[in-house]
Amino acid sequence: MKFIIATNNAKKLVELERILSPLGINAVSPKDEGISLDDVEENGTSFKENSFIKANAACEKTGLPAIADDSGICVDALNGEPGIYSARFAGEDASDVDKNNLILKKLENTPESERGAHYTCAVTCVFPNGDTIQVEGKCFGKIATKPDGDGGFGYDPIFLYNGVSFGRVSAEEKDKVSHRGNALRMFKAELVKYMEENNVNK
Ligand code: IMP
Repeated sequence: MKFIIATNNAKKLVELERILSPLGINAVSPKDEGISLDDVEENGTSFKENSFIKANAACEKTGLPAIADDSGICVDALNGEPGIYSARFAGEDASDVDKNNLILKKLENTPESERGAHYTCAVTCVFPNGDTIQVEGKCFGKIATKPDGDGGFGYDPIFLYNGVSFGRVSAEEKDKVSHRGNALRMFKAELVKYMEENNVNK
């Protein structure tokens, strides 16, 4: 059975392919199906809403079951910012380094005890009959006082998990504890259950 992954991000597609192929699912991209999602406005107020908007649009455009994710980092001392605005937090053209520096600057006078933060990743699957599966994974840590390591992407060099920067851990180690790893494990379990209960053909 074919599922469309509502993303233009090649890394996300590969990650989902790895999870879905053992379930007999063929994961295809918007490009494979000849559609664009560039016109889809992510105007939700939560990670869950935004992932639903993307998945629903891809499902409507193709008639295929569609999966989308939405993720970001929430910093306690910034009242949860940048949250759903994580990608464009420091402006449309800002680099990851710019974004990390902006958070470090904003937290310049914040003591270690108040530097809590968490990543969130919501995954939504929308089926053509309107059924949905939705899960959310989190990963709790702290914001460092300076960047460390160049692994991962985005905010990883300033995110400390158990005191160690995500910029310093391997992809496998990060997967075991990350918001995305947690969300995708939950999603896989929910999808297997749904397919069994609804006799969805592989
Ligand atoms: P989106 O889910 O593709 O909209 O991306 C959200 C943004 O959140 C990314 O551009 C990153 O800045 C940030 N982000 C999400 N997950 C991670 C992660 O695992 N590490 C570092 N940054 C992340």
